[in-house]
Amino acid sequence: MEGVDRCEERLTLAAEATEAFSDAHGLQCPTGCGACCLSPEVECSVTEWGPLVRELVRDGRAEAVLTQLHGQLASGSRVCVFYAAEEEDPRRGRCQVYGLRPMICRLFGFSARRDRDGTPELVSCRVMREHDPAAVAAAAQAVREGAPAPVMGDLVGAVLADAPGTNGRMLPINEALRVALERALLRASFEAAEETGEDPDDDGRPRPVRPPRRPRAA
Ligand code: SF4
Repeated sequence: MEGVDRCEERLTLAAEATEAFSDAHGLQCPTGCGACCLSPEVECSVTEWGPLVRELVRDGRAEAVLTQLHGQLASGSRVCVFYAAEEEDPRRGRCQVYGLRPMICRLFGFSARRDRDGTPELVSCRVMREHDPAAVAAAAQAVREGAPAPVMGDLVGAVLADAPGTNGRMLPINEALRVALERALLRASFEAAEETGEDPDDDGRPRPVRPPRRPRAA
């Protein structure tokens, strides 16, 4: 679990950095805005779901979330499974896993990326630009002039570097969650089987008995 702890630490540091950036420049998401969560373009790595999935497995909620997720994927919807939309206006809603949400959910609108020359530029959000254009323009100018800002590539890159191999691949957010949940549940079933000495693949049905091998002719 060392890797999951490290990921959780990186997520917390990212949240602190974006909070400091938001305070310094007066940037805020409009209250109740669900634009990011409704976007079908949101991607993250399997690793970033590690801290939440660990909690879901511990609480015994992982299978229920996986079932809900399979339903959502089968319906063709790419909206994040944890987005709880308001009934009267589905464009407004809230994140049900806010404290353990992935890196992209923390950084978008409150961080920078490097341009071709390596100079940081604000990754601004369209809704925030419409809501408070002056604050967004001032923050973008400050970042161009060297104001400290969390850099998306650096923070996401650090998480990916902790998880070489397929765990570091970026996937649509629900797909990354599905992989994380399935892996964690499989691991949990093997760990439980190790404790009890049971075969996790044993479905209780009798197995065919193989005939003994004939001894080879001398
Ligand atoms: S995890 Fe939360 S913040 Fe991120 S897309 Fe899903 S609902 Fe939105």
